[in-house]
Amino acid sequence: MSKGLLIVLSGPSGVGKGTVCNALRGKMDNLVYSVSATTRVPRIGEENGVNYFFKSHDEFKYMMENEQLLEYAEYVGNYYGTPRDFVEDTLQSGKDIILEIEVQGALKVKEKFPEGIFIFLLPPSLDELKDRICGRGTETQATIDHRLSVAVDEIGLVGHYDYAVVNDQIDQACKRIESIVIAEHCKVRG
Ligand code: 5GP
Repeated sequence: MSKGLLIVLSGPSGVGKGTVCNALRGKMDNLVYSVSATTRVPRIGEENGVNYFFKSHDEFKYMMENEQLLEYAEYVGNYYGTPRDFVEDTLQSGKDIILEIEVQGALKVKEKFPEGIFIFLLPPSLDELKDRICGRGTETQATIDHRLSVAVDEIGLVGHYDYAVVNDQIDQACKRIESIVIAEHCKVRG
């Protein structure tokens, strides 16, 4: 049995990575979603083990020190990381796995899995991104400003990715990502 594909979906906060991932999960049978660990407090409606594994700083530190994370990064005052075993077991089982992570973490994954597929989701414009972050209504003004300034730096790193997909409409963005995954499965690998 061939191994699954490791797909990394990055892009600035507010670009719609979560919405796109949810939509993809409903469409692509062979695709598994990697649930990250974080020290961030849950937003209203978020569930432990579904959206994230919500951890204390000590719990997160334990995971870091015991190499339970494939990658981790500090982002706007909180830690986020990808549980390693789940990713490796999923790939071994022949399923594809998608990691929805920020740019520093994505670049670390690229060092370990250069054969991964790295997709950057772009907003139609910076103004639109600002509206989306503000519209979420879950962040303070200071956090919004911080996320926006990080977003500009992140967009500057798009050149490290294999593909850039503009998230103008969810359906269209999903179609483009599905097409990328289908094409990658057809690729003749050396
Ligand atoms: P949020 O707080 O909005 O859920 O996530 C903040 C940022 O952290 C987003 O860009 C999200 O994709 C990213 N993120 C979520 N999980 C992980 C992870 O496991 N590792 C890294 N490096 N970033 C993550």
